[in-house]
Amino acid sequence: MVLIFTPKTSRRLQYIVDFIFNEVFNEAVKITINTAEFEAFDGLKICYSQQAQPNAFYIGATSLLFEANITPQQIACFSWQNTKAFFKTNCHFGFDVFAASFYLITRYEEYLPHQTNAYGQYQHQQSTAFKNNFLQLPIINIWCQVLAQQLQQQGKYFSYTPNNFTPQFTFDVDNAFAFKHKSITQTIGGFFKNPSMYRLLVLLGLKNDPYNVYNYLHQLHQQHNIKPVYFWLVAQQNLGNDKNILPTKKAMWQLIKKHAKTYNIGLHPSIQSNTNITILLAEKEVLEELAEMPIINSRQHFLQLQWPQTYQNLIMHNFEADYSMGYGTINGFRASVAQPFYWFNLVNDESTNLRVHPFCFMDANAFYEEKLTQTQALESYKTFATICQQVNGQMCSLWHNEFISNYNLFAGWHQVYEQAITFKPLL
Ligand SMILES: [Zn+2]
Repeated sequence: MVLIFTPKTSRRLQYIVDFIFNEVFNEAVKITINTAEFEAFDGLKICYSQQAQPNAFYIGATSLLFEANITPQQIACFSWQNTKAFFKTNCHFGFDVFAASFYLITRYEEYLPHQTNAYGQYQHQQSTAFKNNFLQLPIINIWCQVLAQQLQQQGKYFSYTPNNFTPQFTFDVDNAFAFKHKSITQTIGGFFKNPSMYRLLVLLGLKNDPYNVYNYLHQLHQQHNIKPVYFWLVAQQNLGNDKNILPTKKAMWQLIKKHAKTYNIGLHPSIQSNTNITILLAEKEVLEELAEMPIINSRQHFLQLQWPQTYQNLIMHNFEADYSMGYGTINGFRASVAQPFYWFNLVNDESTNLRVHPFCFMDANAFYEEKLTQTQALESYKTFATICQQVNGQMCSLWHNEFISNYNLFAGWHQVYEQAITFKPLL
């Protein structure tokens, strides 16, 4: 066990210490404010304070973790151990790694006044990670690796057990079918917008619907023994960007039922549900009825995240995990971390039981936002996977059935997915 001395403790400090020690290091930890207990302790000791203590590894504290409000912070990045850091303090480690990790993982800056884009999303350009050029790194995991090395050098027992690298694949099913099972308005509208023989042949049952890739995916997943999570958009009416096949359509509920038997599934809450939690509940209930099980996983359609409302709504409706933590405009580590963590609600200043599963790579970002070719997109995926493995993290990626369709704009993208799922990073 590691003992941490601090003159005053807080929920924030307890939260980040639990994350770093229990979840990254898999090591027991205790915080004490008792100097006599700290002095008498024979194991690995860390002093987290503005003043060092004898015979203890010293991490100089800033004030962030001892505050309970949300207020703009001075972030001055500097070069540190071949990477970057902020909250510099005069101490053994060189900066306040607890406060800096807390600031990034809680998305502290997203609670401060900020710009949103047309989709109501926080713009990544404002983030500390983007502005200081470390959005492509799970920098918290990198800091933790250095911390582990330095703690191991203290000559005391420290049982750092790295997590196993695990790639996690996930799908958002926004449009389960391209042409079939749509409403009459959508079908007629579609013909006017984009008249095509392909559409006609699909509707006449002479060709497979291009987005109907589920059997192909299932074979692939069985062959490689992987279990992606499928998130279903089941808005009960089509409105704006909620263009899903309605869950009342037989083909849609059959598809969901089939997947619920084999895969982990989750709700992809519609845009309508963001401003109306009755709609969120109704969508959850529809999915639960089809899946015949409680639905505990969620990922927001268009990754709409409003702090703290979105997660509070999920908790209120008994969701246990959210997979929305990533940007819809660029690939990278939005929370600067490559593994799941519990959500800390900054407004209530408390840790919660909602598990956040951050993703760092999405097919649509690579294609629409970063304008990558398929080869470049695969290279980008591999780079992220390699970084995640180097830090013993988890690589979560987000895909869409449209991209697997081999249709139109997406011709060939199924090969990117095939190669991503078989990629094994070499250290
Ligand atoms: Zn979506």
